[in-house]
Amino acid sequence: MKKDKKHLETICVQAGWTPKKGEPRVLPIYQSTTFKYETSEQMGRLFDLEDSGYFYTRLQNPTNDAVASKIAQLEGGVAAMLTSSGQAATFYALFNICSAGDHFVSASAIYGGTYNLFAVTLKKLGIDVTFVNQDASDEEIAKAFQPNTKALFAESISNPAMNVLDIEKFARIAHNQGVPLIVDNTFPTPINCNPFDWGADIIIHSTTKYMDGHATSVGGAIVDSGNFDWDAQSDKFPGLTQPDESYHGLTYTKSFGKNAYITKATVQLMRDLGSIPSPMNAFLLNIGLETLHLRVPRHCENALKVAEYLQSRPEIAWVNYPKLKGNKYYELAEKYMPNGTCGVMTFGLKGGRDVSVQFMDNLKLVAIVTHVADARTCVLHPASHTHRQLTDEQLVSAGVAPDLIRLSVGIENVDDIIKDIEQAIDNMAI
Ligand SMILES: *Cc1c(COP(=O)(O)O)cnc(C)c1O
Repeated sequence: MKKDKKHLETICVQAGWTPKKGEPRVLPIYQSTTFKYETSEQMGRLFDLEDSGYFYTRLQNPTNDAVASKIAQLEGGVAAMLTSSGQAATFYALFNICSAGDHFVSASAIYGGTYNLFAVTLKKLGIDVTFVNQDASDEEIAKAFQPNTKALFAESISNPAMNVLDIEKFARIAHNQGVPLIVDNTFPTPINCNPFDWGADIIIHSTTKYMDGHATSVGGAIVDSGNFDWDAQSDKFPGLTQPDESYHGLTYTKSFGKNAYITKATVQLMRDLGSIPSPMNAFLLNIGLETLHLRVPRHCENALKVAEYLQSRPEIAWVNYPKLKGNKYYELAEKYMPNGTCGVMTFGLKGGRDVSVQFMDNLKLVAIVTHVADARTCVLHPASHTHRQLTDEQLVSAGVAPDLIRLSVGIENVDDIIKDIEQAIDNMAI
């Protein structure tokens, strides 16, 4: 922790909203689409980005900004923006620096929705992707880069493959190629992993998961470290380093320095595409963030006990949890997430796909839902749910075995979770 920074726990509880005399102690919900000014000239200066201030919630809203500021501080970044979903955050993070004719490189083991966005939808916009095995050597991964490559993307812990990213290696590869590293830090959260400390340039989140933590609100965030030198790669990133005609020829890096990337995403992408969260959802997210530092360690503690229990049962074929000794990613997890990874793990039952499905149907306390990373323990079968659009080949490339069950361990009493799993295994007909 840097000296001038508060501890994570304090940031979780207090950052973002600092009321003055007589103002509400709790972050208010500014449920207003618009904001009042006294002269036409005042308002005009806002549209020219010559003054900062609120005028329309699609661009900025005080409730949303307070929560974005808290997330920026948690990650140790210079600025952040909230989006209406994690998907929107991923899209904006890339679209802010890629346009038609551009290319980026991504780890192949990523969230199914992100995989579709990259492999199908971004391609329709003329933005091409090359997927790489994140465990390949520097040289191997470097081969995927082209003169028009604008970014390298990966998840710090991949959903649902549970691969732990060698962040330093990815940052080195990206920087050797003159592009930023974008890391999806949804699973470990800033409580367990700080990608900026290891060279990542931009972090995105699905705040829908642990940050909200209670499965109430879909949301996302983009955080900029402020460290990437866009001007040093001016030809690669003209959108940031050359005049924007939609703002009378303003140049983001010149006018906004370290805030250039988030400012452009706000005043250009949000203005034109509009995936803002409602202030109400930002308010709920903020309440989740206040206890993030308490919940995440409990998720991890419970998950390790559940993983060890699963491993002890002869009916279980395999368990994939990076904090289990002998896991392929144990050392990387110890390095980048010494205090824990997250509450999510995957496993398969002996007998394969059908047996796994039956096990899930036997669970009582543990619910089958399309979700992860909230207070309630839940399961999902990616091959029949989140990843059902993928071919068998794509499934393997995304790290999803057909028998894979994704278990997201909540913060209930761990003995009750284990008891439910125990009865589900004991009551299997096959
Ligand atoms: C859920 C998830 C997303 C997508 O976020 P939404 O909020 O559902 O749009 C992106 N990345 C990861 C790692 C996720 O788990």
